[in-house]
Amino acid sequence: MILISSCLLGELVRYNGEGYNIELLNKYSYLNKFYSVCPEILGGLAVPRTPAEIIDGKVLTIQGEDVTSYFIKGAEDVLKIVKENNIKYAILKANSPSCGNRLIYDGTFSNNKIDGQGVTTKLLVNQGVIVYSEKELTEELLLDLLSKV
Ligand code: SF4
Repeated sequence: MILISSCLLGELVRYNGEGYNIELLNKYSYLNKFYSVCPEILGGLAVPRTPAEIIDGKVLTIQGEDVTSYFIKGAEDVLKIVKENNIKYAILKANSPSCGNRLIYDGTFSNNKIDGQGVTTKLLVNQGVIVYSEKELTEELLLDLLSKV
């Protein structure tokens, strides 16, 4: 299985109640090799929810509420799924404070991005999972990953 951010599979789990329509993922979903997870939902957050970003190692909502513990619980639950299913590859949503793999929003809620990883991605990468974002995904890469799982 390949771990995939639920929102990339069109599930309505984003903070604003929306999902994304990613043609390439839709095309190969019939193979049933995608394991959909939303760390923030697993962590106990609701849809819709207040946007949050990472600031100085904590996850704070735009109103300043510290929601770090939800993000950590979500990451730990995802790691459990990864271990139980022997998952080695993940395609996670770029820039998210949970799922971002190279860049994350900078904590100013102004759409600026900085180098960094979301809470779940960081934990998975530390455990050896190879994480791509949908922005890095080509059909060639996806077919290669699908051939390995
Ligand atoms: Fe998508 Fe990840 Fe945010 Fe869930 S936590 S909505 S899967 S980016």
